[in-house]
Parts: sequence; structure tokens; C-alpha cells
Amino acid sequence: MTPFNKPYLTGKETHYIYEAVNSGKISGNGMFTQRCQNYFEEKYGFEKCLLTTSCTDALEMSAILCDIKPGDEVIIPSYTFVSTALAFVRQGAKIVFADSRKDNPNIDENKIEALITSKTKAIVPVHYAGVACEMDKIMELAEKYKLFVVEDAAQAIDSFYTGKDGVRKSLGSIGHFGCFSFHETKNIQCGEGGMLAINDNRFLKRSEIIWEKGTNRAEFFRGEVDKYGWVDTGSSFLPSEVTAAFLYAQVENIEKIQRKRKAIWEKYYELLSPISNSKFRLPEIPVFATNNAHMFYLIFSSIDERSKAIEKLKSKNISSVFHYLSLHSSPYYIEKHDGRNLQEADKFTKCLLRLPLFFELPEKVQEELFQTLKSI
Ligand SMILES: *Cc1c(COP(=O)(O)O)cnc(C)c1O
Repeated sequence: MTPFNKPYLTGKETHYIYEAVNSGKISGNGMFTQRCQNYFEEKYGFEKCLLTTSCTDALEMSAILCDIKPGDEVIIPSYTFVSTALAFVRQGAKIVFADSRKDNPNIDENKIEALITSKTKAIVPVHYAGVACEMDKIMELAEKYKLFVVEDAAQAIDSFYTGKDGVRKSLGSIGHFGCFSFHETKNIQCGEGGMLAINDNRFLKRSEIIWEKGTNRAEFFRGEVDKYGWVDTGSSFLPSEVTAAFLYAQVENIEKIQRKRKAIWEKYYELLSPISNSKFRLPEIPVFATNNAHMFYLIFSSIDERSKAIEKLKSKNISSVFHYLSLHSSPYYIEKHDGRNLQEADKFTKCLLRLPLFFELPEKVQEELFQTLKSI
């Protein structure tokens, strides 16, 4: 059976882990952590990066840094992973779910303003499949209503947005905070891992303290203070050097990984666009966005057509999987949701299908997939 995902190993992971273990510095914020952080800061123009143990952690750190309190409202797309909402729910926020665009699952930037109230504190755009949300509009709203923007860039490493000013910016560098995932299902990975990018320098000092269990230990290690202690809230958000060492092997190979993933994505597009029809259509990348080849998906005309395709592919030993179930109708939130109908989010819940996309995906599987879809 061809799996939906298979984590890629560059071959250097165990070598760097061996180095980390033998260096005697195995806890967090050591040499490998700093190498990864420096790489991302320089390559993507983030003001400051902190590795975390997951994107969920990075989102939780953002919720703390935005000072979200019980009763505050946070605007989040319904078509996303649980963590996007959960990080804010844990701070006591009320989640106001927004609908998706018609053409892709990202938050519909034109439906946000109507959801803003005097209690709104933040907007959390999710760059689905690594494809940018319309950030100019979102940042304009944030400025007008004095809101924070936390980009859920879990799937969006090495992807970009070009706004009205013509400047190309990396995703995760536009809002106040950007949150990334290095879970094994993402483009570069370390099993479980993530990163917080801090783009507003008012938060540099506090983010480090929250990262280090509410202490100023990072400042102490840099020799900026002569003792460290408990100065704020926080948690243990930093990964060990073993995790960072694994990640560094992937970071070093990011160009190679991205080239291969993009070639696979292009191949799918080339094969499937001539046969896309009234039953399914292909992803569209808006002109302001780049494609980082995180995912290749199809949009079927109905849930039945999608189920037929899943079965047919399964009979050829190819796994394909649907994705999020709209969070506004989840068992945990349905009672708390205000009852608004979010039809585009529900459409993607029913009709979106993801195809296998990983570094070692054989070309003949793509050919077989094409033949199978052609037959329906
Ligand atoms: C993967 C993902 C997350 C969670 O990432 P973890 O690193 O597993 O916590 C959050 N949001 C989105 C959109 C994701 O795709």
C-alpha cells in the first residue's frame, strides 16, 4: 500500500544526534537550537525565532503573548486543525469561527470585518497547504481595530506572499507572530517539533521568558544578569538538543527537499489538469501566493464522488485522505458556536481529498493514480 505520507530522512539526523549527545549539552537552547534559529531568521527575515516542541506550543505561546483573557474573542477559520483554536481556548477566549474563501480553504478575508466586536483581540489566519491568505487585507483590519495577527504557518515553511507594495515576504513574518510545525507530516520535520517567529520587537524579551518556564534563564546564560529567577508566566516550551540536532539535518537540506516536493506537485498538476472535470477540480494558487508543495489536493463535486475516489484508489493500493472537519460543528464547540452557517468550510470538509505527496513517492504511483482517476 502506498502510504499518504512517509517522513523523509536526509541521512545526517543520527550523526547530529550523536554529536549533540556527546557534547554533553542535551537540554534545550544549545548549539543545534541556535543553528536552526539563526538559519530561519536569516533565510526568511524573521525578527527572532524560538524552537518549540510543536506548532501547538508556538500557538500557545502566542496566545500568552497576546495576553488573551477570559471573554476575549479570537477570529479563526473553521476549516483548520484543532490546535489553532485550542491554544486560545486554553486562555479562556471565545472562538469566533470564520468561513473559507470559495476558491481555497483559507479564511475569507472579506468576511472578517463583520465578525469584529469590541471584545476581539486577535485574528489567526491559517495558510492552508502553505498557500498564503490575503495578508494585506488582514493586516489592514488589524491596524484599524488594534488587533494582533498570529499566522498559523504550520504548513507554510518556505512559502511567500507578495502584497500591494510588490514586496515578497515569507509567511510567518507578516503578523505579530508566526507559528510553524516540524511534525513528521510537514515538509521538513523532526517527528514532533515547531517554532515561534516573533516579528514585533516589543515581545522579544517576554517571549524568551515564557519559553523558559517563566524565568529569565536565557538572559542569565548570555551573561546579561547575574542570577535568574521566576519573573512571569510560562511553560517548558523548548525542545531538547536531540530534537534540534535532528531538525538541523533537515534544515541543511531544505532546498533539496523543496525541489523534489515541487517536482512531484508539478507532475500531479500536469497529469491531472487535462482530466479535471465537473467531478473534481485542482488547487488554484492565487497570484499573490507561492506554492511550497506542502500538499496536493482535489476538490470533488460532492462527498459521494469523493468517497468513490477514495475506494477506487484504495483498490489500487493507494491511500488518499480527506482533511479537517469544520471546527464550528465539532462535538467540543458546537454548543458554543453562534449557529452561523459556514458553507464554504463545510464544502471543503465534504469535498477535499489529499493525495500522497512525500520525497520518495515513486513516479509510477503518480501514473497509476492518474489512470485510476481517469477511469472515473
Ligand atoms: C500540523 C498543524 C498544526 C499542529 O502542529 P503540531 O506541530 O503537531 O502541534 C497546527 N495547525 C495546522 C494548520 C497544522 O497543519
